[in-house]
Amino acid sequence: MPVPAPAMPPARVLMGPGPSDVSDAVRQALARPTIGHLDPAFISVMDEVRDMLQVAFGTRNALTFPVSATGSAGMECGLVNLIEPGDRVVIGVNGVFGGRMCEVARRAGAEVVPVAAPWGEPVSLDALRETLAGQPTALVCLVHAETSTGVLQPLDGLRALCDEVGALLLLDTVTSLGGTPVDLDEHGVDAAYSGTQKCLSCPPGLSPVSFSERAMAKVRGRTTPVQSWYLDLNLLGRYWLGEGGKRAYHHTAPVNLCVALHEALREVLLEGLECRFARHQLHGEALWAGLGAMGLELPVDPAWRLPQLTVVKIPEGVTDAAVRGRLLHHYGIEIGGGLGDLAGKAWRIGLMGAASTPRNILTCLAALGSALQTAGFTPRGDGIAAAEARLGRG
Ligand code: PLP
Repeated sequence: MPVPAPAMPPARVLMGPGPSDVSDAVRQALARPTIGHLDPAFISVMDEVRDMLQVAFGTRNALTFPVSATGSAGMECGLVNLIEPGDRVVIGVNGVFGGRMCEVARRAGAEVVPVAAPWGEPVSLDALRETLAGQPTALVCLVHAETSTGVLQPLDGLRALCDEVGALLLLDTVTSLGGTPVDLDEHGVDAAYSGTQKCLSCPPGLSPVSFSERAMAKVRGRTTPVQSWYLDLNLLGRYWLGEGGKRAYHHTAPVNLCVALHEALREVLLEGLECRFARHQLHGEALWAGLGAMGLELPVDPAWRLPQLTVVKIPEGVTDAAVRGRLLHHYGIEIGGGLGDLAGKAWRIGLMGAASTPRNILTCLAALGSALQTAGFTPRGDGIAAAEARLGRG
């Protein structure tokens, strides 16, 4: 075959549900020399990645590291290690990703008990309590930031509820880590997984995970082998933690991606977690103000609306693909379509990590206003002025 031209992805403004924009420093880190995955120079990268992830997750868990695959592999890693066939597993489902957890848990042999909540709302503590009903339960799973609906799950009270039935608590933090406080230890979360391509602003391909001692006691005490060899924490731990200071080969870690994650985590720590959360919150609010002024409906209650991912109802008569296509091809801006029940009915606008900037908010509002006008919807008011007022620039 004729050799194709080099692949040259165009520069985009990534304002969808992920991947998000990556800084020049992180992109350049990805291009540093490839070295061996057991090279002493890489071992120190691994140690520092672990230390920085512990800060980002708000945990002292020793077993904190990036799984060598995307967020779904982190989900699978949590579930296949913490579930033994026949275990009762209670899973909150208020969007696509709670549903995905149910599917993975079933394949791991769990007796899955879903606790549904309407899309656009968190799972209520009362509904969880009613389902747990004092029955011995191995695991309770929740999605902290539901990317399909833009909802933040409150964490208060979950630990006490799990303790009543002896359950471990597993949390999906794919969209929350680095954008909203996670604080695993403060909330008594036993296990969590995330993704690099959202609020950490690193390319996709790694899934940071963290497991408490209590979770690892369950893994070590299993009577059946972990269903997946690749994701078995007993084996991964020997590579990521080492035993007696020696790392045992398990698989070839994606060294360049780990170096990029190292740089992305440095950026998180240099900004400071509190400043980063405040930035996401302010910019989310500015975007909401702008969209609201334009007459667009935001279906999620502000009490649990995610600042890093806003769901916007598509106005009556406007075609989803026409507007998103115009944003992408005329303005280079990617926003997301609706997932699952919201397909064709909503857009998802991300302001994650490096993409959460005043410039992106204002450019997106201007471009969206023009694309809506072309699609036959005249914005009610001046979205840019409303956003600028919230940004304190009015
Ligand atoms: N969980 C949530 C909340 C997500 O948003 C995503 C991806 O968007 C995943 C899990 C799966 O992650 P990935 O697509 O990186 O496999």
